[in-house]
Amino acid sequence: MIRRSRALRALVVLLPAFALAATAPAPAPAPKLAVVISVDGLGWARLEGYRPWFVAGLKRLLDEGHVERAARYQHLNTETGPGHASLGTGAPPRVTGIVANSWFEAGERGSLHTVHCTDQRDPAAPAGTARVIPGPGNLRVPTLGDRLVEAKKGARVVSLSAKDRGAIFLAGREQAHSVYWYDKETGRFVSSTAYDPPSAIRLAVRRFNETKAGTMLPGRFGLVWKKWSGPFPSPGTKLLPTPVPASIVQRYQYPVHGLGFDHDLSRFGVMPTGDTPGYFGGIYRSPLVDELTADLALALLNDPALELGHGDVPDLLCLSFSGHDPVSHDYGNESEEELDTLRRLDVQLGRLLDALEAGYPKGTFLVALSADHGFPVMPEVAKAIDKTASGGRIDVGKETLDNFKERLNRMLDETLCLDAGVKPVFGMDGWDLFYDRATLPAKSVAGACGAAGRSVTTTDVDRVLPGLVKLVWGAEVEDVLLTSQAASWRETPALSFVKNDFDAQRSGDVILVPRWGVQTSYNPGRGSMHGTHHEYDIHVPLIFWGAGVKAGASDAPSTPYDLAPTVGQWLGVTLPQAIGKALLLPR
Ligand SMILES: [Zn+2]
Repeated sequence: MIRRSRALRALVVLLPAFALAATAPAPAPAPKLAVVISVDGLGWARLEGYRPWFVAGLKRLLDEGHVERAARYQHLNTETGPGHASLGTGAPPRVTGIVANSWFEAGERGSLHTVHCTDQRDPAAPAGTARVIPGPGNLRVPTLGDRLVEAKKGARVVSLSAKDRGAIFLAGREQAHSVYWYDKETGRFVSSTAYDPPSAIRLAVRRFNETKAGTMLPGRFGLVWKKWSGPFPSPGTKLLPTPVPASIVQRYQYPVHGLGFDHDLSRFGVMPTGDTPGYFGGIYRSPLVDELTADLALALLNDPALELGHGDVPDLLCLSFSGHDPVSHDYGNESEEELDTLRRLDVQLGRLLDALEAGYPKGTFLVALSADHGFPVMPEVAKAIDKTASGGRIDVGKETLDNFKERLNRMLDETLCLDAGVKPVFGMDGWDLFYDRATLPAKSVAGACGAAGRSVTTTDVDRVLPGLVKLVWGAEVEDVLLTSQAASWRETPALSFVKNDFDAQRSGDVILVPRWGVQTSYNPGRGSMHGTHHEYDIHVPLIFWGAGVKAGASDAPSTPYDLAPTVGQWLGVTLPQAIGKALLLPR
């Protein structure tokens, strides 16, 4: 009797636990692999508009993932460096310090020089020399990857892109990260001494370069970029959304690979932005570079020696697909070349999702996809479609005498009675103007301002510059903000975007606020440029797929700054300096 009652008591004690186990969901599998994907320059409207075209990865992400439909950046300089730093860290440029793709800094004698966002001193350079290499040195806060390897011993971060800034800012500052980008001179994936990856990954990338990249590329990809002939949505599908007809768009394209399909990749010449010419440079400005990036990602995921995502702690794979950005710059975001690039990317992402499902237990991997910025329609095309459309270009081309900076400097010289050789505005990047502090103050010449020899300072330039810009470029520029008067900037809808970019050390002396549809242009009248605070540049996809996340969509406002905290929450990693929030993903 005593025995039985003991057994009964035990049963009674166990029962509630059994009852709970029957109704409570099984514990979520431990995270093994997070994959962060950035599609360079992909705006939300473009992805959603072309949805019927997609048959593979993009289709699955949109159909099966949790889609944040209202994710918008909140900073002005919507460029690749700032966007990737924001995706990597969960914070806007005012926090990351990556305020633009490049800016100007004063050297030893006060003269300004260009600093690319990925420029840093080579740690391997001999003392006393200042060799500059691509690296994360300008990044002011840790990334998701930095926090992951700090919190979980043995975790690895692998980051791949065709652009150094795409790979570097998604990965972060930790030296042990494996960070590789495409080299336009050799067609291979390279890194820098800023990183010291594990030797197994080093070897795997070297093997890939020898067997799949570099001199193997012409044999693998051919010399022409043909229109994608892969699977159509369903045979006979009608009413597929189509790009703006070539008859309109071609007038304004920058034909780096010639006009119209097939595009000859081997005849790529020098860009106004100074890109590397030749076949390998041509691959970079085509969708084929995304296929190459996906090939390397799959080679690393499938390499048994690496066991990515199969260790005791989770790993992070970052992929920035760059091809969409140069294609949109050259041929227009509204062109059939851009659609072709997305259809090809769709297939590459499909390969990646298939590999994750084949290689990892369900629930152990999470994919997060977003973009560093969107893209506008070329202003001439916008007007050809709709005569009432507003917009235009500000010519910032380096070669022309009559570009924005040259013209503004001539007007400043006349107004302030400066010698024609004096150029108060040294440079422009994004929407920031930088004064030449090595030249100012300068002595005035005799004229309308009186006798010669008066000292003209930056304060004098501040006084007259806004009026001159508004006089000549009033149709393009909505506001001119002086950094010296930041404390009294007038509240406008654009001001929070300006402030989210602002870094006292790196921002310019003057910040221009562009009107809707206005873009800076390196090649007057041709090609396209992103980089504003307007809808087409700030509204991007934000999608989470895998890890038990339910299919669905949210129209609640969110930001791409939410990506890193959300993935971090799943990985069990916090990001104290993030401004974005960890989204509660429905499961
Ligand atoms: Zn771009």
